[in-house]
Amino acid sequence: MSYVTRLHCPKCNTDYNPLETPQFCETPECGARIDVHYDYSRLQEVLSKKILSARSLSVWSYFELLPVSNRANIVSLGEGGTPLVKSQRLAEALGVRDLYIKDETRNPTWSFKDRPMTVGVSKANEQGTTTLASASSGNAAAALAAYCARAGFTCFCFVPDIAPMGKIAQLLLYGAKVVRLKGLHKGDDPTVRLLREACSTYGWTPCPSFGPFNPYQAEGPKTLAYEIIEQLEWQIPDVAYVQVGAGGLLGGQWRGFTDFMTLGLVETQPRMVAVQASGCAPLVQAFETNRDIFDIIPCASPHSVAEGLCDPFPWDGDLALLAVRESKGSAIAVNDDKILHAQELLAKYEGIFAEPSGVTGLAGLIDRLESGDQDPSETILIEATGGGLKDQDIVIQRITTPPVIEPDLKQLQKTLGL
Ligand SMILES: *Cc1c(COP(=O)(O)O)cnc(C)c1O
Repeated sequence: MSYVTRLHCPKCNTDYNPLETPQFCETPECGARIDVHYDYSRLQEVLSKKILSARSLSVWSYFELLPVSNRANIVSLGEGGTPLVKSQRLAEALGVRDLYIKDETRNPTWSFKDRPMTVGVSKANEQGTTTLASASSGNAAAALAAYCARAGFTCFCFVPDIAPMGKIAQLLLYGAKVVRLKGLHKGDDPTVRLLREACSTYGWTPCPSFGPFNPYQAEGPKTLAYEIIEQLEWQIPDVAYVQVGAGGLLGGQWRGFTDFMTLGLVETQPRMVAVQASGCAPLVQAFETNRDIFDIIPCASPHSVAEGLCDPFPWDGDLALLAVRESKGSAIAVNDDKILHAQELLAKYEGIFAEPSGVTGLAGLIDRLESGDQDPSETILIEATGGGLKDQDIVIQRITTPPVIEPDLKQLQKTLGL
């Protein structure tokens, strides 16, 4: 049984029957993401704080709020239920009172992308499709490859040639068929172009972590918001700093925060601050210039150490920009130095080793604290969305190699100045 009532295109207002399986809006010239709508009055009858609190924390603990009808179709690797760490040392170093870190590096494939992918692959399973494909700089592809391995499905991954080999090795081992594509430039994403063409030619199901190719992707990150609210014992952070590439992470979470308000489980919502890398910040530009949510201008030449955020066009940018505006948040860009500094601080003060894309929200927080635009007495949420082990090159380039000495106490004293 599912609580989905309809599939709806927010751009041209076309409705679709949830029993049909459109991948994106089929109205000529539209092609936007289709949004999934639920029956909240029925959901209110079956979900309460008590019922939810009695369940263990995981993505599928929120089954009723997800678009899969039959639990038997779930393809899971034990995703979600990640720790919400109350920061001590980092909070002190930054001079803030209440800082929480959602540690998404602990997911089965070490990034939050396991949330959209468990939903996408489960839904594909329910619809009876067994070949899926992704266009990704790495984490989404790795997650899709792992869930396809779990289900015994075929997985095709189109990745940009700038993706680190650590990430590519991971998806090859999961058994995915990987193609690296040249040329991420001029606002055109070759991985997405080939994804679209190959899926329509061969009938594969696109599952690229963002919405316009698969309506179920943004449903996964909703569960991040649900978990955070439960972990804060039904309190809401004042503000969330969220890194943005395609926008599904931020936009999906906003849906989650909105769901719990609609269900009467909480009374407020956080301000959502979108943080992008300054080398690829089309959403920030759209926010600053007050553009229509469906008229975001792509970034001509994305470049950043946060390569997981280098989407020239934010495919779920409409959802993310709407979230930023509705929540009275904002959108800011941070440069690579600030991102790398944030990576170091998170590791050094909290013991969390995250990749640059996964700490860009923290870099944004530091930036706002420094400029005086963030009140340090608020309850602040950041999210470490991807593990650092996948892209060690970026760290190795910056460290000084430790000295080699004889195993001798005198030499040790001399070397370390003890
Ligand atoms: C994909 C990704 C993001 C951004 O998510 P979007 O939904 O593309 O905005 C952030 N952090 C990491 C580690 C990612 O892999």
